[in-house]
Amino acid sequence: MTGRSDTEPVVVRVDRDRCIGSGMCALSAPESLALGADGLAAPLAEFADGGAELTDELADAVDLCPVEALTLHSARGGYRIDPAE
Ligand code: SF4
Repeated sequence: MTGRSDTEPVVVRVDRDRCIGSGMCALSAPESLALGADGLAAPLAEFADGGAELTDELADAVDLCPVEALTLHSARGGYRIDPAE
């Protein structure tokens, strides 16, 4: 993982066109992501909009998604933190 600040609040976005519903992210970071009724991943609570402290589990989930459907963004500036553009 590159380009992130450990103190910056983050939101996580799911590219629903890429997500295959493997559930790996929900298992890795259940405080941040869950599978919705449609079988695709969705961010939970503050990770969807307001921003929250990045956890190791969420960082791992982003890195481990098999189809690179997850991206981390700054909750303040909106720019992408990981994966780097
Ligand atoms: S790990 Fe990736 S493909 Fe699997 S449910 Fe999460 S976002 Fe979707």
